[in-house]
Amino acid sequence: MIKGSCCCGAVKFELLAEPAMMGTCHCSRCRKAGASTIVFVKKQDLKWIEGKEQVALFRPTAPYKYGRCFCKVCGSSLGEILSEEDSFPIAANALDGDLTLRNQFHEFVSEKPSWYDICDKAKQFDGHPEPS
Ligand SMILES: [Zn+2]
Ligand SMILES: [Zn+2]
Repeated sequence: MIKGSCCCGAVKFELLAEPAMMGTCHCSRCRKAGASTIVFVKKQDLKWIEGKEQVALFRPTAPYKYGRCFCKVCGSSLGEILSEEDSFPIAANALDGDLTLRNQFHEFVSEKPSWYDICDKAKQFDGHPEPS
């Protein structure tokens, strides 16, 4: 069980299982939202402790289709934590507990600013990861 929370503690949740995948997105939206490294969780593994009503959703405009959730009080990025999909990404930053999982890919490397150097051996994709 892995605990997660926002910066101010208004939002608290637990993951009943370790996430299945971790990736880092270098697109300008993730960078500005402060949620570049994401983990994919299954809906059934996400248990709310408190503060679900403190989560706001930033709705995307086309061509973007994924909303971004954040704490209304402190602004912490929470990924797509309000998603109704079976599996969805949340910001790895929000997790309090450690993971054995490591970053598995970098996406939108074509949008990466030059001041950030990728220092791991994970696969890199110019856009969304292609199945290999
Ligand atoms: Zn907060
Ligand atoms: Zn992104």
